[in-house]
Amino acid sequence: MTTKPAAKTIRYDRETRDYALYLNDEFVGYASTYTEGQVILDQLAASIPDGTAEDDYSDVGPERSDLLIPPTADILSTVKERIETARLHEDWPGVRQLDRIRQNLLNGARLQWHAGDLLIQSVNNPGQVYSTNGRGCSCPNGQKGKSECWHVATYDLLLEMLDDRAAAADILADAAAERELGRRIAMERAARYAA
Ligand SMILES: [Zn+2]
Repeated sequence: MTTKPAAKTIRYDRETRDYALYLNDEFVGYASTYTEGQVILDQLAASIPDGTAEDDYSDVGPERSDLLIPPTADILSTVKERIETARLHEDWPGVRQLDRIRQNLLNGARLQWHAGDLLIQSVNNPGQVYSTNGRGCSCPNGQKGKSECWHVATYDLLLEMLDDRAAAADILADAAAERELGRRIAMERAARYAA
């Protein structure tokens, strides 16, 4: 009998804009956000006999390389909105961090997903590429334990943008379902009057 921990995999489905969930390579359902997917998979894995709820999602990594980097203009407009919000709340460290993201993107910083990590080309040291994920960053500031470098902030921002897009897709799906229901009610009524 094997006591291998259950393998948890989350794949972003570009067509449905949902996060497809797999447990031991078996499709178990969809989640509307990445975080929700982690919660569902943890619960499912814990309910399997001999399955241990493992917090390591490193096996999820490669799928994230399928994720698209949004157009720079989209990122910049999201950053601009967030700067305005941060200003309203007088969150000056937040404003400075967002402004660093803005400046670096304007200076041509290039972003790329690789095996679950976000690779960012250094603007100040051409040829240097830093690798970041939710847990840390390979840049000098990140190595010194300052996890809040602009690379980590950019990583968080991109994942949030992805979640927002998935949420927007949900709202569109709900609207379509409502229209379909309305159409069926109208047909039902028409049929009743015709009888
Ligand atoms: Zn960094």
